[in-house]
Amino acid sequence: MLVEKNVPLQTSNTFGIVAKALTLVRVGSQADIAAVLQNPALRAAAKFVLGGGSNIVLTGDVKALVLKVEITGRRLVSENAKAWIVEAGAGENWHDLVTWTLQNGYPGLENLALIPGTVGASPVQNIGAYGVELQDRFDSLDAVDLTTGRSFTLNAAQCAFGYRDSVFKHTSKPDAAGHSGFGLAGKALITKVRFALPKAWKPVLGYADIEKKRLQSSIDVPDALQIYEWICEIRKAKLPDPKLIGNAGSFFKNPTVSPEQCADIIQREPKIVHYQLADGSVKLAAGWLIDACGWRGKSIGNAGVYEKQALVLVNRGGAGHPVTGGEVMTLAKAIQTSVYERFGLRLEPEPVVV
Ligand SMILES: Cc1cc2nc3c(=O)[nH]c(=O)nc-3n(C[C@H](O)[C@H](O)[C@H](O)COP(=O)(O)OP(=O)(O)OC[C@H]3O[C@@H](n4cnc5c(N)ncnc54)[C@H](O)[C@@H]3O)c2cc1C
Repeated sequence: MLVEKNVPLQTSNTFGIVAKALTLVRVGSQADIAAVLQNPALRAAAKFVLGGGSNIVLTGDVKALVLKVEITGRRLVSENAKAWIVEAGAGENWHDLVTWTLQNGYPGLENLALIPGTVGASPVQNIGAYGVELQDRFDSLDAVDLTTGRSFTLNAAQCAFGYRDSVFKHTSKPDAAGHSGFGLAGKALITKVRFALPKAWKPVLGYADIEKKRLQSSIDVPDALQIYEWICEIRKAKLPDPKLIGNAGSFFKNPTVSPEQCADIIQREPKIVHYQLADGSVKLAAGWLIDACGWRGKSIGNAGVYEKQALVLVNRGGAGHPVTGGEVMTLAKAIQTSVYERFGLRLEPEPVVV
């Protein structure tokens, strides 16, 4: 095990924020985790698990021991009448896994193509795009408890998936009402994830952008590879490439309100973009709310609101004077205040602030 000191993280986070890991260990196997937990100087240290850095905002040098996940491998582990079970190491690149599954004839992840980051982080916020969430294709995961060193396996129910949410985003601390929940935030390192990819595959269509592609191509029933190609084209046209403009994707979650709250807002804001959910609640488009408050294209310091999509905050500083985590959070707070004052809604950030 190599313990690295003062490791620059600018290229390890997609915002391109300049910060260092005071101490970093690369985790290529379960044995590396065991070595960390047996090391007297490291075992008791606070730990931060780092994947591709595409869903974090670094607000300074990271004092916690950074465990950079680099566990590789992908294979078909089993199959049953309904699904192929594919397993991947937590350090595998997510988009490369999606591509590999399709090339090997296991469809199901195509709508999630081109999401940056690693396989190991995908259950953390239950990644989702274009009508599919990770939980729809999830089988189970293996993880290591970073306090005891014990390995464990979780199924979907145990992961408690929600909208951009899972057990890995919560701590066991009691909430405001005094109820103590079960949470694994900061406590577990996911080592492997298994996916159940359906044999009776059906395309997930319905999103306006996908429908547009379908009409333009006059392909009535696209196959999984076709959807993958469309999703890649749509995402390239809509979202900034972090290699060119630093960002962490959607910065806020779309707020969910009751039908009554929605009706009340519609009276005041007839044009508000909203989607009915299966459970009767209504999801509001956070990007629309931010846009309506006039933030699109605006900046505070080197943190800006992307011109083509107000939900994405970007690094306007470039390589010379990159944005700081403080500037990103100042802009995020100013946006939250505007949206609250106009709509009475509290926007919740999606990335993890470190
Ligand atoms: C341009 C762009 C587009 C995006 N589009 C989408 C989208 O469409 N849908 C979507 O859901 N997200 C999207 N994202 C967000 C991001 O890509 C995902 O959240 C991704 O899963 C983060 O992976 P990562 O490896 O970069 O995680 P990191 O940013 O490194 O970490 C994120 C969190 O996960 C934890 N973590 C990471 N790996 C592990 C592990 N192995 N075990 C335990 N905890 C771990 C970290 O501690 C941290 O709390 C986008 C981001 C960008 C930059």
